[in-house]
Amino acid sequence: MTQERRQIIFTTVVVAVLFAAYETGKTVLFPQMGAFTSHLVTTIIVISIAAVTARYVIHQQAFVLREREMSNLRLREALTAAERSSNLLSSILASVAEGLVITDRDTQVLLVNDAARALLGIGQRSTDRLADISRDPQAHRAFASVLAAGEDAEARVESWTGNGDMRERRLLHLHAAPLRLGQDRVDGVVGAFIDITQLEQLERVRQEFLANVSHELRTPLASITAYVETLLNGAIDDTENSLRFLHTIERNAERMRDLVDDVSELSAIESGAVRIGPTRLPLRRVVAEVFNGLAHRGAKSGIHLRNQIDEDFFVTADSRRLEQILTNLIDNAIKFNLPGGEVCVSAAISDDERHQLIRVRDTGPGISPEHLPRIFERFYRVDKARSREAGGTGLGLAIVKHLARAHGGEAYVTSEPGSGCEFTIKLPVREATHPNQEKVMSGVPYTV
Ligand code: ADP
Repeated sequence: MTQERRQIIFTTVVVAVLFAAYETGKTVLFPQMGAFTSHLVTTIIVISIAAVTARYVIHQQAFVLREREMSNLRLREALTAAERSSNLLSSILASVAEGLVITDRDTQVLLVNDAARALLGIGQRSTDRLADISRDPQAHRAFASVLAAGEDAEARVESWTGNGDMRERRLLHLHAAPLRLGQDRVDGVVGAFIDITQLEQLERVRQEFLANVSHELRTPLASITAYVETLLNGAIDDTENSLRFLHTIERNAERMRDLVDDVSELSAIESGAVRIGPTRLPLRRVVAEVFNGLAHRGAKSGIHLRNQIDEDFFVTADSRRLEQILTNLIDNAIKFNLPGGEVCVSAAISDDERHQLIRVRDTGPGISPEHLPRIFERFYRVDKARSREAGGTGLGLAIVKHLARAHGGEAYVTSEPGSGCEFTIKLPVREATHPNQEKVMSGVPYTV
């Protein structure tokens, strides 16, 4: 029974008792009171009591209504605040890049954010248990260890995203921490997943690179050591042979120097330590200078060098770096050519007029299609023996690609085996470039 109801019953009983007391008192104290006077007094008293009671009831009802309104208002405010906190939590969970998975003590999933769905390849599948999130035993072990020990745990978790041919392996770092809603008890586990696929790939590339460098250095070093030992063991007195040995030592030392130069060059470019200072350069003249530097090499094999660039073709590039790109490409085009072959350098504007294309074409045996996708990788060679014999480090094209990219451009190759290769450097057209360039440059032969 509510308090108001109790008050109303109590008030009614009090009124009834007072009225009974009044009637009894009136009969006892004023026995000779006339009927009219008695009715009048009774009516006045009843009206007064009714008025007081009505006022009391109205007041009570108004109070109850006000209370109800206040409590509705408080409820509405509490709901709005709860909704706001829930929206805030949802938007935080949706915006973090880490995949978050929260489970209770029985590994029932309480929450999975969108990033976790993407990283773990869950898509829109329902996720009730931890097994629906990941099948990797490492993830289950980490969650179980947090529940058992109440301490953070780390794990490397593998996941597969995409379907069919687009399936992709990802490596994730999992940091699992206890969820404590009270003081001591572990009520569940919060798992944060971070994508470390790229990091792992970079680490693998770095290790492969180091292994390659030491392998490349070991061969000439072994040769130098062997020849020095031979000389020390008496061959030094054999003038004819010792000279031959010394030349071999010199060649191997040069090879080591070239390799060390290329490695430090490549790592400087990759680390961003190399500054590109683009200026407006007359491409024909830059190519002519590179041809001059390599003329003796071309002449050895009777290779014709053709500069097919127009006088008014300008590029905006770092002068030294552009020379380096062209030297590497033209040197390869000479090295991997056939005796009496040809190397042509030409330039054009791309069809969308947003890029300049510098092309180095040769008439060598070309590169077969299976090698083309990997040709710009560090230390990738089609014919290892031939490359080493020709004094190559296996890093020339990797440097070319990085330098082209440092200019905001790209390097690529096309080849038809039997009819040579065409390497293209694509540079973005910049403001400073000469406006009157023709779309395709006319051929101007340049023969050494
Ligand atoms: P290298 O020091 O061996 O020349 P590069 O990185 O410059 O290293 O070239 C990688 C490999 O690409 C070479 O070993 C060679 O097999 C191939 N290659 C490069 N340029 C040509 C070309 N013009 N014709 C045929 N093969 C080439």
